[in-house]
Amino acid sequence: MDLKLEQLAGLYEHNAWIVEQALTRGPFQSLAAFKRACTEVLDTAGRDAQLALIRAHPELVGKAAVLTHESTREQSAAGLQHCSPEEFATLQQLNRDYNARFGWPFIVAVRGPRGRGLTRQQIIDTFARRLQAHPDAEFAECIRQIHRIAELRLMEAVGESIAEGEQVWDWAEQLAAHSEAPDQLTVTYLSAAHQACARQLQAWMQDCGFDEVNIDAVGNVVGRYRGTSERWLLTGSHYDTVRNGGKYDGRLGILAPMAAVATLAREGRRLPVGIEVVGFAEEEGQRYPATFLASSALTGGFRPEWLQQQDADGVTMQQAMIDAGLPGTMEAIAALARQPADYLGFVELHIEQGPVLDAAKQPLGVVTSINGSHRYLGRLVGQASHAGTTPMDLRRDALLGLAELSLFVEAEATRLGCVGTVGICTVPSGSINVVPGRVDFSLDLRAPDDAMRDRLRDAVLAELVAIGARRGLSHELLPTVAANAAPSDPGWQARWEAAVERLGLPVHRLPSGAGHDAMKLHEILPQAMLFVRGGNNGISHNPLESISAHDAQLCVDAFRHLWEAL
Ligand SMILES: [Zn+2]
Repeated sequence: MDLKLEQLAGLYEHNAWIVEQALTRGPFQSLAAFKRACTEVLDTAGRDAQLALIRAHPELVGKAAVLTHESTREQSAAGLQHCSPEEFATLQQLNRDYNARFGWPFIVAVRGPRGRGLTRQQIIDTFARRLQAHPDAEFAECIRQIHRIAELRLMEAVGESIAEGEQVWDWAEQLAAHSEAPDQLTVTYLSAAHQACARQLQAWMQDCGFDEVNIDAVGNVVGRYRGTSERWLLTGSHYDTVRNGGKYDGRLGILAPMAAVATLAREGRRLPVGIEVVGFAEEEGQRYPATFLASSALTGGFRPEWLQQQDADGVTMQQAMIDAGLPGTMEAIAALARQPADYLGFVELHIEQGPVLDAAKQPLGVVTSINGSHRYLGRLVGQASHAGTTPMDLRRDALLGLAELSLFVEAEATRLGCVGTVGICTVPSGSINVVPGRVDFSLDLRAPDDAMRDRLRDAVLAELVAIGARRGLSHELLPTVAANAAPSDPGWQARWEAAVERLGLPVHRLPSGAGHDAMKLHEILPQAMLFVRGGNNGISHNPLESISAHDAQLCVDAFRHLWEAL
């Protein structure tokens, strides 16, 4: 594509050198490729140049700010010139505190992830939150915000349309209106809000032009768009949420392929394979102990005894199904099992739920494997004794044993290239003047393949024994989870990689640290996942979960490229 410096000189305030240098890397396959080049130029320019760029941006609320034409317009879009006196005072104070803490101006793309403008309250909340960040993290966030501002300016400069991405973003926003709790997003299996989500998804799928849309016996919303053959590609993700969750976890993997199908249907086009999009009813395990029950129904792995599980109010799953107008019988659920021969495979798009892509300024990442895990609940027991009278060499301090173990988990997981966490550490009846005699803890060990996962486990358990011997501690350990890794199918992973390359983006591969529906479908079909970055350092299972409409558009385009290549 033909990009001209004159047209783009103002993308980075008065720092035209970024665009100038980026343009020397052209020609570009896409705007995404050009944006990538800009991030690479700035990444390699060094911290001094980056700091100068941050300082070249006018203060959001500084009276003495010298505003470029663009900045003036963007800030008025957010209505910052219409603050109440309280808001104005708050912003002034935040600005003073921010400058004192970091020494550079606060940068936020005031037009926000959708491009329509953040509210004044959103800006104030963001300001207050980021004031608490570590300086290195905040510096990196300012750079990302500068790239976001440039992305929005570029969009206007070249008249870019991201209608599908905006549609996906708007759908996610509208779907989030259905919640069990006021002021937060909570949608658990078969609650009223959950059923409203299913009906909404069903209606949208019908509008998109799917040939068949139905809600199945476990509450999955299933849309089928026929191809020219009898074979299908299965995709989708979940629409339930954790309590106080984010708007994109799971849902994005339903909405993005819906938007891509809508375009196919509008153009009257048929692919060589049919596209089946499933909105899975349950993945998060919030209401009933059973998790992945929705994808389990498709693999034939739904266990009859799950129907008798009770929620916190004593309502059985079977009763909840009947109350929601579902049959509530194993017969109906067993009939949902898919025949692998009918499908080419399963692909899932999901928000990363981690900081890797955001930090790397990569919108998309191709998943190599869904990590396998071992989890334990454990206890170390030593001797509680007087903190004043027990000499250091005569102690049997259980907490110090766990401290040593935690550091070992960190070192060993880092060495192997996987992850391990001691997430719970409790000294029951601990006291300021007592040497801890007992500590309860948890262990969570995850790796992209089972051999590595087991190597980490073996090393950690051997170290636990060694620490006990050295420190005179005994231990108990209860295994709670042993989940196998689900490596991506090489063929489908390669198709995602090709789709990302067709978008003009470099392929960034990463394992999935979290579990996903694809893990279940892995039991019967070849599968591979695509991740999209989350903003705010990739935070997820949290209201701060965020994606931009631009990244949503890349998700839709990635589906299109994946399908076109079949
Ligand atoms: Zn999820």
